[in-house]
Order: sequence, then C-alpha cells, then structure tokens
Amino acid sequence: MTRPRVPRDVAELVRWRDRDQCQRCGVYTAGGSIHHRQGRGGDSPHSPANLVLLCGSGTTGCHGWVHAHPAAAYAAGLMVRRLGILTPAEVPITTPRGEVYLLPDGSTSLTTHPMKETTA
Ligand SMILES: [Zn+2]
Repeated sequence: MTRPRVPRDVAELVRWRDRDQCQRCGVYTAGGSIHHRQGRGGDSPHSPANLVLLCGSGTTGCHGWVHAHPAAAYAAGLMVRRLGILTPAEVPITTPRGEVYLLPDGSTSLTTHPMKETTA
C-alpha cells in the first residue's frame, strides 16, 4: 500500500518545527521520518497538526514503535482516532519537553490550547 507523500514544503516545515528531533525520544534524527497521527481518512492528512517527526521508519525506531504499540501511541497523542471528536490539533503529544499541541499553521503550544477556553 502506498501513502500519499507529504508535500515537500510541509515536510520542511515539520522538520523545522520539530528541530530535527524525534518527538518521542528526543534523538537528533536528520534521517527520521514523518508520521501521520491520523491515518487515511483524516480530514487534513498533510496539515502540520497531523504530522510529527519520529526517528526510524514505519517499522523501525520510534516510528516503528508507534505502529507496533497503538494503544500507547494513542495515549501519547502520537496517534489520533479518525472518527473521534478531537482533531489532531486538539490532542497534545507527549514529548521529552512536555505536552505539546501541534497547530495547523505549523506552530506549537506548550501548555494551554489557544482554541480552547481556559476555565478557572
Ligand atoms: Zn525516537
């Protein structure tokens, strides 16, 4: 099966945003790969909110780990349910530097989500 390629400008944005570091283990990964948090069927497969840089490939490193351990990957936000209520931008990922929201414009938010009202 083939996956649609991530457009080159989006891939460059994601690598820049993620500082060429695997967002699960933190290793510097110039040779890593870009993971789709919400797979085929998602609304915006190539939105930066849906993409995250991981070390390895679809079968090795953290990218392989995500696909081999879906329950843990969902819990860490590295996978997002296709038919769920929340979009990838609304589900934080657990990274070595804390919980991070990946936003559609390619930016990130470390603590509170700008699209979500804060209470108390
Ligand atoms: Zn890794």
